[in-house]
Amino acid sequence: MRRRMLIVGNWKMNGLIETAQELADGIVAGLGARSGRSLPCEVVLCPPATALLTVHQRLDGSVVKLGGQDLSEHESGAHTGEICGIMLRNVGCRHVIVGHSERRADCGEDDAKVARKMAAAFRDGLQPIVCVGETLNERERGATLEVIGAQLAALVPYVPRELTRRQTLVVAYEPVWAIGTGRNAELEQIREVHGFMRRQLEEAFGADAARMRLLYGGSVKPANAGSIFGLEDVDGGLIGGASLKSAEFLAIIDAVPEKF
Ligand code: PEP
Repeated sequence: MRRRMLIVGNWKMNGLIETAQELADGIVAGLGARSGRSLPCEVVLCPPATALLTVHQRLDGSVVKLGGQDLSEHESGAHTGEICGIMLRNVGCRHVIVGHSERRADCGEDDAKVARKMAAAFRDGLQPIVCVGETLNERERGATLEVIGAQLAALVPYVPRELTRRQTLVVAYEPVWAIGTGRNAELEQIREVHGFMRRQLEEAFGADAARMRLLYGGSVKPANAGSIFGLEDVDGGLIGGASLKSAEFLAIIDAVPEKF
């Protein structure tokens, strides 16, 4: 089954309106300058919530799509400070990151909550990009696959049975020890976890698993992107730090191989 590569930029809590505009403009212009050949991947930018509308306007007419960094599991109502899926759709989002390890750590989001948020994203017509990953301690005590297995298993009952091309499961494997540390996982470690996740999704979803994309995230840079994206079960990347500079982000997109 053909899976289009997907590159997602997670800007985290960085950027005011002016810098967000500049960054979005730089990425759109860079991709426009490459338009002689069609893009080898889908590109999604996830700015902070305060810049979503502005970035949506800057992306107008380009192939780049917009995503949120988080959403509430609730549909609306008395949830001060929260943003629901319909609100994200209202400012132009089609995607949303769910269960990023920084939210799991900072906001105490556990596997059950992450699964409910993913369900809310499906319900509200968004494409969830669900993050999983082990801590350094879990890796060092040999529990990596057990942790990833449990994180994925928590999602399974909440994935709709009727998946579409626009709404399917996207999972980003992000070893917590590799995020923002400059230390990315070795190719063999990524291969092992992605192969494991693919098999678990096949067991849970049968043939539908073939359209679910598996991204890698954790200190992806232009220098290592090509070899990571070249791995068989890697369908793209979730990019943090390197998505904050248009030249670096564009160089990562340039490293996406034509896999199919
Ligand atoms: C992330 O935040 O999802 C991430 C992968 O960050 P970085 O690329 O900076 O490691």
